[in-house]
Amino acid sequence: MDFCGLGGIMLHLVIMGIQGSGKGTQADLICDRYQLQHITTGELFRKHIKEQTELGKIAQGYISAGNLVPDELVFKVLESEMGQSEKGYILDGFPRTMPQAQYLYENYDLSKVIYLHLEDAVAIERMASRRVCSQCQAGYNTLLFPPKVDGVCDKCGGEVITRADDEPEAIKQRIISFHNETEVLKGFFQEKGLLVEIDASQKIDVIQKKIAEEIDRLGK
Ligand code: AMP
Repeated sequence: MDFCGLGGIMLHLVIMGIQGSGKGTQADLICDRYQLQHITTGELFRKHIKEQTELGKIAQGYISAGNLVPDELVFKVLESEMGQSEKGYILDGFPRTMPQAQYLYENYDLSKVIYLHLEDAVAIERMASRRVCSQCQAGYNTLLFPPKVDGVCDKCGGEVITRADDEPEAIKQRIISFHNETEVLKGFFQEKGLLVEIDASQKIDVIQKKIAEEIDRLGK
């Protein structure tokens, strides 16, 4: 089997970076390009909460308080999603703690960890301008890619809103939490020789090209 010029290699990727660094956008582009499964733990939790599953009910309390969901619950939601594409996956929003990074490293054969670096001030500005469709979850940005009609989703006509955790106080909390808990993972993956750091202040297509070059190198 051959695909994407990588000689049939299964891609097990992680994309990391501060909120607002464009992780989701880049992960979507990578998934299209390499036909990967995009696994976003935050999105999975929102789905469980919307459907009021047992897992969703427990996760809801942590998320609405601005806290991380306990690792055991995160592993559960992750394991139920893995393996839906034979070409591999990209993890977005996972890992977020050292036990999660260790679990991933020990149980899955990681190909590469892409770290999108962005200064706090730029991240805050980007987060404050982020919007999402309340119906289909399509993402928008009032500065970079606003919906054609203010407050209305281009794709489904749903209401475009600010997510509760993109409100100013919640943004501050998430930045602190990122620096406290997630940034150390960068060092962990660097030590394992898996980390590639990319400047996330560049244009979307420039960043995408750099990521693709790194992925293509895996097949050589
Ligand atoms: P996100 O949309 O990625 O910011 O995720 C929304 C919320 O889901 C976070 O604020 C956390 O409470 C929870 N969450 C998502 N991914 C994880 C994870 N890997 N570990 C713990 N909690 C998570």
